[in-house]
Amino acid sequence: TSDYRVAVFGAGGVGKSSITQRFVKGTFNDNYVPTIEDTYRQVISCNQKNVCTLQITDTTGSHQFPAMQRLSVSKGNAFILIYSVTSKQSMAELAPIIEMLKEVKGAAISEVPIMLVGNKKDEDAKREVSTGAGEKVASQMGCGFIETSAKNNENIMELFQQLLSREKKRQLAL
Ligand code: GDP
Ligand code: MG
Repeated sequence: TSDYRVAVFGAGGVGKSSITQRFVKGTFNDNYVPTIEDTYRQVISCNQKNVCTLQITDTTGSHQFPAMQRLSVSKGNAFILIYSVTSKQSMAELAPIIEMLKEVKGAAISEVPIMLVGNKKDEDAKREVSTGAGEKVASQMGCGFIETSAKNNENIMELFQQLLSREKKRQLAL
């Protein structure tokens, strides 16, 4: 199909909605608005001369029903796994999601574009997870890694560019 599905996972409050909104709409809201589940669509270029629809699903994170989570994983072509650099706990909460990804995708996981994201890099005084610790987890998983700030619009475009560049079956670009 010409749809390319990206699912965004992570604990509550890490900035899943903020990163998605920043990318899709260019906006940022300081207030916490709990998400149900929303999908955003954008047209991107595919194999130079074609277009396809990038579908970004902003999930409810850990509060998602396990069956819903598995469905998002089985339907997803690529994944963004977010923690907050201000919370060690949020990094720990990614572990079950990573396990489930491995289980559902099986051997194909090595070909699935995944970016591990340390968000809220602007909150330096509250940092609990070092850049090195994030890099280490990403290299163990064999996925990409980037630190972002949805608030200051740092590395948001780069996150999506790097994710799409990890897709080897099609040539995707923003
Ligand atoms: P979600 O539950 O993962 O969707 O998290 P939200 O996107 O709703 O963000 C939770 C809270 O963190 C909100 O108050 C946001 O304004 C704030 N937030 C999100 N991204 C950043 C960021 O990059 N830096 C800072 N300082 N706050 C952020
Ligand atoms: Mg949200």
